[in-house]
Amino acid sequence: CSAAVVIGAGEARRRWACACGAPPACTGCGASPYHYHAQCRDVQTLRARWLAWLQGGREAYRNLERRAAREATAQQKALREALARHAELEGDEDWKAANCRVCPRCRSAVEKVGGCNTIVCGQNAHGGNRQPGCGHRFNWQDARPYVARVGRAPRLTAHTQPALARQGAVSGRGVRHLFAQCALCGSGGKCILGPRFRCIHCQ
Ligand SMILES: [Zn+2]
Ligand SMILES: [Zn+2]
Ligand SMILES: [Zn+2]
Ligand SMILES: [Zn+2]
Ligand SMILES: [Zn+2]
Repeated sequence: CSAAVVIGAGEARRRWACACGAPPACTGCGASPYHYHAQCRDVQTLRARWLAWLQGGREAYRNLERRAAREATAQQKALREALARHAELEGDEDWKAANCRVCPRCRSAVEKVGGCNTIVCGQNAHGGNRQPGCGHRFNWQDARPYVARVGRAPRLTAHTQPALARQGAVSGRGVRHLFAQCALCGSGGKCILGPRFRCIHCQ
């Protein structure tokens, strides 16, 4: 309606309800319905952002969440596989350390088969090829024991878990709003996790 409100200078903005029954408006900016929260100059921006959220922001956010969950699962799987490979390698190396010596020429691990101390690198006692080797002939007693070479087991770091480390393209992802609960569902008595919304028109 076109009713005019007289506001004293310096008076704070307030909710003004006209007798005609039109939705209450803000005496500061004239926006209707009245906004309990946010400054008058921010109302337009907030409305635009809310609209953008409804028109695709929400969907983009959900896709992002789903992708992050998928990537986290894939990373867990990759880590488990890496750990299994590591354990296998560690087992191999332990066995070699217990059973092998090193060829003095090419440094390959050489296993002693049978009782003869004369070793030909890469061959078994009877001359058959067992594994790659340089063919160097040496005495088992003169060769140095094999030393296991296993690095540290892979661990989850910021580099191996980009999905968890990456910040969401949508602000608020993963943020915990301590002590804030959802006014609609109560968020199960827990705090709100992720983007949190407050209606500027409600008290
Ligand atoms: Zn009116
Ligand atoms: Zn206003
Ligand atoms: Zn060799
Ligand atoms: Zn809720
Ligand atoms: Zn509201």
